[in-house]
Amino acid sequence: MNTELQQETPHEIEVELPDACVACGGSIAARFMTGSARGVCLRCHLITALRVARTDEGMQVGHAPVALA
Ligand SMILES: [Zn+2]
Repeated sequence: MNTELQQETPHEIEVELPDACVACGGSIAARFMTGSARGVCLRCHLITALRVARTDEGMQVGHAPVALA
């Protein structure tokens, strides 16, 4: 009998990006999930969507366009 294991590993990584906030220059606590990433500034609490691109040098993190009210 073949038993299949469900390998549904949640790919969720949290990192701190120093001086990454576009509003105040503070550190952003970023959470990377499968297909998306979000960050919140530790100083001004701005919530931002992050865009992750794979480059030759590794991973590049940038701010996704955010609509302002
Ligand atoms: Zn900030």
